[in-house]
Amino acid sequence: MTNDDVLIIGSGVAALQLAVKLTNDLNVRIITKEKIRTANSYLAQGGIAAALGVNDHPSKHIVDTLEAGRFHNNQEVVQEVITAAPDLIMHIAQQGDIFDKKRNGELFLGMEGAHSEKRIVHGGGDATGKNVMEHLISELGQKRNITIEENVFAYELLLNAKQNRCIGVKARTSTEGIQSFYGKHVIIATGGCGQLYTYTSNAKTVSGDGIAMAYLAGADIVDMEFNQFHPTLLYINGETKGLISEAVRGEGATLVTDDGTQIMEGVHPLKDLGPRHVVSQRIYEFLKNGKQIYLDISNIDDFEKRFPSITSICEGNGIQIAGGKIPVAPGSHFLMGGIKTDLMGRSSIDGLYAIGEASCTGLHGANRLASNSLLEGLFQGERLSKWINETCKIPQELEQNKYFIHPNQERVLNLPNVQQIKDLMMERVGIVRNEENLKKQLAWLNQYKAESIQLDTCSPEDITKVFMLIIANLITDAALKRTESRGGHFRSDFPKEDDHQWLRKTIIHNYKQGMEKCNEHIETALAT
Ligand SMILES: Cc1cc2nc3c(=O)[nH]c(=O)nc-3n(C[C@H](O)[C@H](O)[C@H](O)COP(=O)(O)OP(=O)(O)OC[C@H]3O[C@@H](n4cnc5c(N)ncnc54)[C@H](O)[C@@H]3O)c2cc1C
Repeated sequence: MTNDDVLIIGSGVAALQLAVKLTNDLNVRIITKEKIRTANSYLAQGGIAAALGVNDHPSKHIVDTLEAGRFHNNQEVVQEVITAAPDLIMHIAQQGDIFDKKRNGELFLGMEGAHSEKRIVHGGGDATGKNVMEHLISELGQKRNITIEENVFAYELLLNAKQNRCIGVKARTSTEGIQSFYGKHVIIATGGCGQLYTYTSNAKTVSGDGIAMAYLAGADIVDMEFNQFHPTLLYINGETKGLISEAVRGEGATLVTDDGTQIMEGVHPLKDLGPRHVVSQRIYEFLKNGKQIYLDISNIDDFEKRFPSITSICEGNGIQIAGGKIPVAPGSHFLMGGIKTDLMGRSSIDGLYAIGEASCTGLHGANRLASNSLLEGLFQGERLSKWINETCKIPQELEQNKYFIHPNQERVLNLPNVQQIKDLMMERVGIVRNEENLKKQLAWLNQYKAESIQLDTCSPEDITKVFMLIIANLITDAALKRTESRGGHFRSDFPKEDDHQWLRKTIIHNYKQGMEKCNEHIETALAT
């Protein structure tokens, strides 16, 4: 049993930023499912958005964020995060050689889809996430108050006797079997749920665990129907092999068919740099009709130098950059919804926080603007650290009692295999949805009654499946209820946005309170 001031679950950018910013007098523990670097954050290629250009202004970045989010965003959150972005990025840039710079020392600013200005700061060409994570990991190395435990699979949040405060988490460890970790502040930073789908850009550990745990503990979960499918994953023999960043289209690559026809002509005014859901749907239409789509990169000079990571992914999979064409398909990339929190990361349960992609602050609305998520994680990590640094001095009632050992025998459950869950989610709750498929999927999911399965005696593989089934249920149910198309959620039977019925209406799930309701955002319009 361990007992810390701050217990952080996950080791992505939000987790590490929080840990780095907490004061040295706090005991901090990070537990993470595999290695510290096994995280979507480490894979992030494109960069981080901030209005740093001479012609740019946060108000332009705000408008782009709201437009991409189809005005489902929490406007106050958007304003606060986007306005803070330039200072946040400049501060990190001053810490070392993290971002790419021009000869005159200014930061390089790249272009990405749905941005109206060049404002994407990147590092190592297309290794931004790696650079930022390595910087944070080296900062952590200087701090003696932080313990990092790898290969710890958190699976059940612990509440106090009154069931109104989160006090820790149960986890499977590689050495100790089942162990309880306690903390005055328990932070879920476990990322989104990309692994729910057959085609995905996400790290293998990112399958919605933290959101499922929070849901089972009774926290409010929102906006699960808003899933972003990235238009361009490398696609070989029916499998996706990694991400081809939007920055490639930002540098001039276009989407073409076998015979070179440009498929985004006449589809959206921004053509290949249109919002991700528009581009993904367009590629999906061609693939469904048996036509392969390619990124034509022939007009990008020095591709290998500008995009070293993508070059290595392609060449490692037998695609030569000199050929000028990369086969692509859309796949699950980012979850806009998650555990409902304020900007500080506070969930609806005392003592429980969520930051990074596991949380839903409302920044992204119905669809994330490219390169806004590393920004959100960095912002939230810093904001939550300020809150904890101030409040942790107040004594908290702590209840620690249990130490669990590995059960002698694991139960064998009758659950579908992981591939089946992914394939059915892709087919029925993927890029294009409709009532018939969503109902079929709900009926299929409901037979497993995943929410009532006792997890202590399950194998880690079965726990993963239980979490996947719970997340699949939340997504499917919300997608069925939202009878319109908006952002990352597209219904072929309701293909238009329905502002009258749905603008800023959020579907909230709460298992403990049996609450599945729609909640209207009440917000003041931004003066832009
Ligand atoms: C290929 C790719 C490229 C991207 N490019 C960009 C980009 O250019 N710009 C941008 O802004 N965003 C980008 N994104 C999105 C961005 O990387 C993520 O949204 C962001 O990094 C999420 O960070 P996070 O802190 O929430 O956690 P993540 O980085 O998702 O990490 C989650 C952590 O939690 C751990 N974990 C999960 N479950 C458990 C459990 N049960 N117990 C213990 N630990 C657990 C995981 O192992 C991992 O360490 C990209 C995403 C991908 C996949």
